[in-house]
Amino acid sequence: MHRRTPSILLLLACTILFRLAGPAAAEPPVPAEWLTPAEAAGFEATPSYEETLAFLRKVQTRLPEMELGFYGTSAQGRPMPFVVLSKEKAFTPEQALALPKPILMIQCGIHAGEIDGKDAMLLVLRDLALGKHREILDGLTLVIVPIYNVDGHERVSPYNRPNQDGPKRGMGFRTTANGLDLNRDFLKVQAVEARALVSLISAWRPHLHVDNHVTDGVDHDWVLTWTWAEAPQMAAPVDAWMRAHMPNVLAATTAAGHRNGPYVDLEDRNDPTKGFSSWVGQPRYSSGYFPLRNRPSILIENHSYKPYRLRVMANRDFLLSLFREVAHDPASLVQAVRAAEAATVALGKPDAPPSQVVLEYAPSPETDPIRFPVYAFETKPSLVTGAPLLRYKRGEVREIEVPWQHKAAAVRTLPRPRGYFVLPGWPQIEERLRIHGLRVQRLGAPATVEVEAMRVANPKFAERTYQGLTQVTASVERHVERRSLPAGTLWIPADQPDFEVAVQLLEPDAPDSLLAWGLLSTVFETREYIEPRVLEELAAEMIKDPATAAAWQDALEDEKFAADPFRRFLWWYHRTPYWDETASLMPVFRALTVPAGLTMQ
Ligand SMILES: [Zn+2]
Repeated sequence: MHRRTPSILLLLACTILFRLAGPAAAEPPVPAEWLTPAEAAGFEATPSYEETLAFLRKVQTRLPEMELGFYGTSAQGRPMPFVVLSKEKAFTPEQALALPKPILMIQCGIHAGEIDGKDAMLLVLRDLALGKHREILDGLTLVIVPIYNVDGHERVSPYNRPNQDGPKRGMGFRTTANGLDLNRDFLKVQAVEARALVSLISAWRPHLHVDNHVTDGVDHDWVLTWTWAEAPQMAAPVDAWMRAHMPNVLAATTAAGHRNGPYVDLEDRNDPTKGFSSWVGQPRYSSGYFPLRNRPSILIENHSYKPYRLRVMANRDFLLSLFREVAHDPASLVQAVRAAEAATVALGKPDAPPSQVVLEYAPSPETDPIRFPVYAFETKPSLVTGAPLLRYKRGEVREIEVPWQHKAAAVRTLPRPRGYFVLPGWPQIEERLRIHGLRVQRLGAPATVEVEAMRVANPKFAERTYQGLTQVTASVERHVERRSLPAGTLWIPADQPDFEVAVQLLEPDAPDSLLAWGLLSTVFETREYIEPRVLEELAAEMIKDPATAAAWQDALEDEKFAADPFRRFLWWYHRTPYWDETASLMPVFRALTVPAGLTMQ
């Protein structure tokens, strides 16, 4: 505390000098006590969870527009921090959403070893506290998650990321304490951390999200790489906003001295000349999840072979460029997201014309040429494997023109339902619908309605678990039926802005559905049992019916069937009144029209 007075004087002097000289002048040095922990360590270290919180609290003492809060508790019991920056001190979602300016969410450390984003944001926050970049607060509200995977962040070792150049003294670990990868968990929200973050997203409804990572693989000259979903995966008004504004952000990042390009996933890992993809992918990822909610998520992947200081500075300057671009024209982003949401709501109205909803996207085959600054490479036999191995010569850039694939195409669509009914008794469905902020109603009285029922069959379970779950694919048949639904059945109407989240959770053949992740696998099981001798007696009676006898003779024509005692057994069991009709039946029904006269609780 006794050092406070001189630092205030120095701060005032710096601020006055900066204002007089303008931004073109050399930046005044940062007072030693205001160095971020990474700066103070010469970028050889990143601050621990406690050190990060301590620094945030210190910044808060100088930045009344900042509030530090906690949005959940990790599996190991750590409070999960977030920071709100608001010129109007709009520190609640209600207050911030009432302002005519966009909310940006900056998420760091989902893979806690890839922590550049946190140290970049600490630099920005410190500079704001010292009076810099104030103009950005005029045009936006910031919600910052400095360390998402807080438990992984504390599992520090210099040996956590073999392909990464620093911080030399160590970095955190990729997964949560119980081995979950949070960047596979945006839709199924299996981890407590993911439940907390998605609840934060549902409360604040940020207009734009940034997910800061570090990537390895091919050795190229870009320090920072980026990607985001494009139309048709991204709603048209938001796609148009990104096309209008992101080139300025990238140009400003380049002008600040940081080589950048699209995220690189090589077509052939042994041959960079064949080109690369920046395709975004499924709703399990941030970049695939946010488009379902009509907002963009920018994936930042710094290049792990570049030194830590360079990466953090590139990350900081990209973010500052983004903040300035948004703040320069704040209404346009709010309007783009609002237009996209309104379009989803309109398509889901009870009287809207029929439309399709996309179950799955895949990379579009179309490509654009791009200049790719890859390091000179050669292939030599590997000492380790004996197979050919691609190696790079650092410093010798060989710019080549390659095909770049970055667009998505819808590969499976379905008629858009007017809503879903979900039977009571499936808490794993209801809790997820609520975490994703979906409007869910409950039938107050039983109802008999016409719906499309879905039956799943021929399940193929994965040979090994993934994210602790056994994934499954199955065939799906949809038939219109009249069904009696009990009181307590959930109703999820389609005229809501996040409805496509419900589609991806509930349609069994969507790639990241609850069924596909193995979270509804009891539907595949036969739960009751009939003694063979009991069935024998029933069959002896049933075969007296000529139609049944004829059908049985037909079935026996199939030699494989005739030789399979279990299939023969099921053939008869299915025809008895004792068969459980809910076996293979999804507990979810598609409403193709909104049933009249539903009583809601
Ligand atoms: Zn990552």
